[in-house]
Amino acid sequence: METIEIKDLHVAVRAEEPQPDILRGVNLTIRRGEIHAIMGPNGTGKSTLSETIMGNPNYVVTGGDILLDGTSILDATVDERARAGLFLAMQYPPAITGITNAEFIRAAVNSRRADDDQIGVMDFMDELDERLDQLKMPGDMADRYLNAGFSGGEKKKNEILQLLMIKPGLAILDEIDSGLDIDALRIVAAGVNSMRGPEFSSLIITHYQRLLDYIVPDVVHVMKNGRIIETGGPELAKQLEQTGYEQIQGD
Ligand code: ADP
Ligand code: MG
Ligand code: MG
Repeated sequence: METIEIKDLHVAVRAEEPQPDILRGVNLTIRRGEIHAIMGPNGTGKSTLSETIMGNPNYVVTGGDILLDGTSILDATVDERARAGLFLAMQYPPAITGITNAEFIRAAVNSRRADDDQIGVMDFMDELDERLDQLKMPGDMADRYLNAGFSGGEKKKNEILQLLMIKPGLAILDEIDSGLDIDALRIVAAGVNSMRGPEFSSLIITHYQRLLDYIVPDVVHVMKNGRIIETGGPELAKQLEQTGYEQIQGD
């Protein structure tokens, strides 16, 4: 993927009765190779934006568009978006019993590859072991049911494990830093940084500037009340840490 363009996006929760918009005109363009961060207070629509980009059917687009290389993806399913290179590390990854972490990740990797290019079990396990080491995760994490009984920090590391194995074109990382101690934060950040390059773009969502000391973004946006109200470079994140969100005026 070259570019994702979010144009005047309005989004509401899907319900029988029409709901008020949570996103109220979001504009954002991310080009291949760029890392963008979105910061903003709680309840502002950051997770709604990430879920909507990925195609979560619980949200309905009430206006605007999302274009991947110039083509609208609003009618595409989550699977189709994943095959097009999109990946979401969820803020609250659900537990799934009955499928192991390794099985889940291998299915996710293979669903994004052509039928004649499926990764075999041995190659997959070798690479998975390497990535588990890289993230300082115990080897048995691969054999456990997906996210079942994982601690908060383990869940976040596991999202990055998926990222490293799947190698998406655009990774949306929704509060990947929440609940991490400083050592885990460094490991997670190093994992994301190891993906950086001309083929990889990312949208990093966070409350805190701290993560952005480790993964330095190209562009920082501030979101408030369902809109992006300010855009700047990495210094904007530092300024926010000083002033807080209240000083930034949205309506
Ligand atoms: P953030 O990620 O910035 O904290 P969210 O996108 O999670 O914000 O939420 C924005 C607003 O939309 C909140 O008021 C939240 O309660 C509401 N909201 C989000 N998802 C749902 C949902 N599935 N059902 C009902 N309300 C929702
Ligand atoms: Mg929140
Ligand atoms: Mg959120």
